[in-house]
Amino acid sequence: MSTLAAQPAPARPARDASASGRLLIAGATVIDPAQRLNDRRDLLVAGGRIVALDRSIPPGAGDAVIRGEGLLVIPGLVDLHCHLREPGGSASETIETGTRAAAAGGFTTVACMPNTNPVCDSPVVVRYIIDRAEQVGSARVAPIAAVTKGQTGEQLADLGALKTAGALAFSDDGRPVPQASVMRRALQYARMLDTPIFDHAEDMSLTGDGVMHEGVVSLRLGLKGIPRSSEATIVARDAALCLETGGRLHICHVSNKDSVAAIRHFKERGAPLTAEVSPHHLTLTDEAVEAGPRHALHEVYRTSAKMKPPLCEEEDRQVLIEALEDGTIDCIATDHAPHFPASKDTVFDAAPFGILGFESALAVLWKAFVDSGRWKADFLIEKCAVAPARVVRAPWGTLRVGQPADVALVQTGVRYAFDASCLRSRSRNSPWLGESLTARVAGTLWGGREVFASPQVFPRGLTGDRAP
Ligand SMILES: [Zn+2]
Repeated sequence: MSTLAAQPAPARPARDASASGRLLIAGATVIDPAQRLNDRRDLLVAGGRIVALDRSIPPGAGDAVIRGEGLLVIPGLVDLHCHLREPGGSASETIETGTRAAAAGGFTTVACMPNTNPVCDSPVVVRYIIDRAEQVGSARVAPIAAVTKGQTGEQLADLGALKTAGALAFSDDGRPVPQASVMRRALQYARMLDTPIFDHAEDMSLTGDGVMHEGVVSLRLGLKGIPRSSEATIVARDAALCLETGGRLHICHVSNKDSVAAIRHFKERGAPLTAEVSPHHLTLTDEAVEAGPRHALHEVYRTSAKMKPPLCEEEDRQVLIEALEDGTIDCIATDHAPHFPASKDTVFDAAPFGILGFESALAVLWKAFVDSGRWKADFLIEKCAVAPARVVRAPWGTLRVGQPADVALVQTGVRYAFDASCLRSRSRNSPWLGESLTARVAGTLWGGREVFASPQVFPRGLTGDRAP
């Protein structure tokens, strides 16, 4: 177990909405895949932790009560891949706004990537992020530190010191580790430190100046393509290094069928390999780059569908779904990547790569896979809460008694337009704006503290009256 297993409840005390210091969530259906639970339960919170989970818990004198009738109660979601842009990118996001967006999406733990300014390659920056999140955050933030100094791909950062400072994992995400020999050495350290390397798998010589997936659509739109091999060759290379060294490797944002084949191959041979897939790669294809009729005339191609790795084809999407279902891919991660509006409001070639993910993830996946009947809700929650925690061997993502009260309330069976009012991020680069969705996060507790209440469900806060 990593030291994170002993991680205490959030540093800031639970907001005491009650005289007794206890908070009861009553009348909801509780889904907790870690306990194989999907049934009507009451849940009692005290001192920032879950202290009881039972069929019926009568409220004690002075207890605050959240009316959960008709709602689902799930463990706070865990996101292993996001960009909070602090330090240095506050025009796009900060730890404060990014974790507010996370809370609005039901996430209570988020791991942020090191491609900030300065790069998170020193213990000082790791500590800064952790301290800042404790001061102004609405979710637990676990920093992922750089593999190489300055993310230049040349010299390894002081991985031992970064781990001691609190780094959850190591990654040069935003860019690859170009040299195999550097990745091999990083994996040897990863093994010694028992800490995974998160791999942004990309061969820049194959990406070139490509801006979207190379295929019929890129040809039709006249945009430069990125071949599948840009990702798949590095996945295969690094998975082979993972098998050889025994260092844990986590493949980020898997996007295509060839990468899945490589992961499957090396997992079958016993490599300590894990992988994540994003909501956008599970639900969209390269067709999304072409503007639909609801978009402004001048916006020929949608920059909100431009990200790395790019959206691939329907065949890839189906392979990714099956890989998640059969365990080849372990979990879902958003790759929440805010870019301030002016930077995305430009021609496709010039726009930066990346899209928002926190606020839309659960609702988009719910509509695509739970409403359609393909997945049980339990499966989706497992892949967004328990499975990511398992990748980093942390105790998050469950409602077990004794755990920090990281809880999300979800309303399903509704219909609403996902628009800018649903966003808490400082940026607006979501491809789902205008989409009709059917599930929404109604509220979020982090360590027992109310960090989000949906204005549509709980207009007066979680312990206030429900909206009619
Ligand atoms: Zn990446």
